[in-house]
Amino acid sequence: MRKVTIFGSTGSIGENTVDLIARAPELYDVVALTGGRNVARLAEQAISLNADLAVTAFDDCYDDLKAALSGTGIEVAAGEAAVAEAADRKADWFMSAIVGAAGLVPGLRALRHGTILALANKESLVTAGPYLMAEARKHGATILPVDSEHSAVFQALVGEDMKAVERIIITASGGAFRDWPLQALEKATLAEASAHPNWDMGQRITIDSASMFNKAMELIETKEFFGVDTDKIEAVVHPESLIHALVGFKDGALMAHLGPPDMRHAIGYALHWPDRGHVPVARLDLAQIGSLNFRPAEEDRYPALRIARDVMQTGGLSGAAFNASKEAALDAFIAGQIGFQDMARLVDKVLNRLQQRNGLSCDILTLDKVLATDHLARKTTQDMMQDATVR
Ligand code: NAD
Ligand code: MG
Repeated sequence: MRKVTIFGSTGSIGENTVDLIARAPELYDVVALTGGRNVARLAEQAISLNADLAVTAFDDCYDDLKAALSGTGIEVAAGEAAVAEAADRKADWFMSAIVGAAGLVPGLRALRHGTILALANKESLVTAGPYLMAEARKHGATILPVDSEHSAVFQALVGEDMKAVERIIITASGGAFRDWPLQALEKATLAEASAHPNWDMGQRITIDSASMFNKAMELIETKEFFGVDTDKIEAVVHPESLIHALVGFKDGALMAHLGPPDMRHAIGYALHWPDRGHVPVARLDLAQIGSLNFRPAEEDRYPALRIARDVMQTGGLSGAAFNASKEAALDAFIAGQIGFQDMARLVDKVLNRLQQRNGLSCDILTLDKVLATDHLARKTTQDMMQDATVR
């Protein structure tokens, strides 16, 4: 039996992970589940999977979770520290599916036990990629990518020599606004940005898909995880979302990974790795699909992609600043304080200011430096928003 823990079990990735585990309960011993404010669902999951421990990230949710699990024998805890402490309960496989930079510390702590970390939380690699990868090496841990594009690249690379890799191409659906005229984007609403054409995901990543901040993060994630040079990484718009990524080799061959837009594919690959197990996703009928389309990912439509290139060039602490500023700008868009296009303008300005005032390059990343930069970038984003200098 594999001992598993899920960070962020009540989210979109978390629910899909729970779904796969619940289909084969004889194979898994669930150690801990962590969630946020949705304690009713967290309790339900903990009972149905017979977990040892359920943790809510918020102290004020403790009483509700305790009440929901009373008489079950399932341990209950609350708070940010308790989430991270769940990493110390012995498990063989951890799913990192908290949204945002809050996912970094719990994942890191699991890595220090030399286990397998299935990494959906892309923010971990964007904010602290070199540090995370070094910690994994130091402790003999394995990180398996769960973002669909990175799982696809990982699978295309099985048995290959990285020295033979010429390019990595990740695909983008183009998000909710791919067919909108550029001028209309200025007025895009929260509801419009929260509807994804192909994937059913959490609200934050859905909006990030519309703005392409998601793809921007994934370019950085590619660089950090696979250790390839920036100029070998490309993004292309592929509206069907059936090819998730392609790897190009020095003989000109392109290996593509195809599958339906269902995250259980990438989660299932990580869950069964190094084997392949049965995963209940739809099977593609290529004759019925007929054709696959591609178009360039234009940087004037998607300024987030250009910002990502700058971040990859600067390296150091710029990923931490980029992610934190993006999270703060997204909060502001969700709260109706800024417009859709203001997000990229704001993040760009914040990065320029931090680069000029503080410098973002840094040879050796430490967790303290990353967290301090995250804090500073969030505050700077809020300050600059209030200056009303976004436009
Ligand atoms: P979601 O919003 O649906 O779920 C997030 C989970 O994190 C929930 O369990 C929530 O309770 C918990 N959480 C929220 N704030 C927290 C905090 N401060 N501390 C601790 N826990 C907290 O998000 P999601 O769409 O499942 O995405 C999770 C991660 O996976 C993100 O990093 C996202 O970018 C990545 N990802 C998601 C998808 C997808 O299909 N949803 C695809 C690829 C990558
Ligand atoms: Mg993705």
